[in-house]
Amino acid sequence: MSLQDLAGSNTGKPAVCAASAPFDDASADTVLRTSDNVDFRVFRWFLKGMSPFFDDLFALPQPPGSISTDPILMSEPSSVLETLLRLHYPFPQPLTFSSFDDAKPVLAAAHKLQLTRIEPVLHRATLPYITENPLRAYGFALRHGMEDLVRLAAREFLMVQDFAAVQDSDELEGLSVAAYRRLLVYRQSCIVHLRQQDECIWAVPNTSWTCYACLSCVRHSTECSSRRRLSSAPDSNVDFRCAYCGTAAWFQQYMRQVAQGLSVTPSAAVIKDSGFITEAVAEAHKRCLGPCHTLAYEHMQRYTDELHNRVERIISEVQLEIK
Ligand SMILES: [Zn+2]
Ligand SMILES: [Zn+2]
Repeated sequence: MSLQDLAGSNTGKPAVCAASAPFDDASADTVLRTSDNVDFRVFRWFLKGMSPFFDDLFALPQPPGSISTDPILMSEPSSVLETLLRLHYPFPQPLTFSSFDDAKPVLAAAHKLQLTRIEPVLHRATLPYITENPLRAYGFALRHGMEDLVRLAAREFLMVQDFAAVQDSDELEGLSVAAYRRLLVYRQSCIVHLRQQDECIWAVPNTSWTCYACLSCVRHSTECSSRRRLSSAPDSNVDFRCAYCGTAAWFQQYMRQVAQGLSVTPSAAVIKDSGFITEAVAEAHKRCLGPCHTLAYEHMQRYTDELHNRVERIISEVQLEIK
């Protein structure tokens, strides 16, 4: 089998033309010809470094008489190949897609060519469309055996509130009932696991946050460090006894909203719900003339970062079954 045969077929195409710089280097030792007949001149060492796919390709014995610059026929169009090659060049332009349909051929080609190094970049660029319709991305990724993308889509699916509002798509048509059921089981497992780990979410590592330390909002025990010292910024040198003094009422309201939110959409995004945070801070302003009045906003921004990471970690412990 020749390199040409392995890389794909190519018939009835426009006249061959050269790719633009830097893929027109005459000294390059390999030519990749795309499905729309554009020749990309690339160095073999560069391709080998990109993926095991090319490594294996070049390791194949070649027919007698063939030379290394015989074009390798690719089944991808030039737009897709150029995107993928450029991402491997130093200082690539930031990648953006205009839609999920725009991202699909690039994702599929990268998966086929085993370009694992750029996978995170591709996923990041696709994320807005995965968030928009996680079921579609789930179906697409399952069909192509892209495990990481399947898990990413499942994770975004946790945020879906209205299942009926998920837009229809070809990928949805192709999704098996069993695969959809596994997604629902995963979502339910996240809800249950978060409920079981509730104490872990709210475990207090540092009692200098004003929602725990405020002398006006929280009734502190006589031995509590907060009665003696109220730091405006959290430090690691605090007395953990304050963890048992309780929390400000305005913060309890936020905790209740988060618990309710996580029981419906088990995603760390609930922690950062701007409605919940704004309401809590407004309450703190209204109810407390002490430290919460001035510190609640800043502390909530920072404390919810911590909480967000904790919830992310807890959700990561739940595994989606993929078949
Ligand atoms: Zn205390
Ligand atoms: Zn207060």
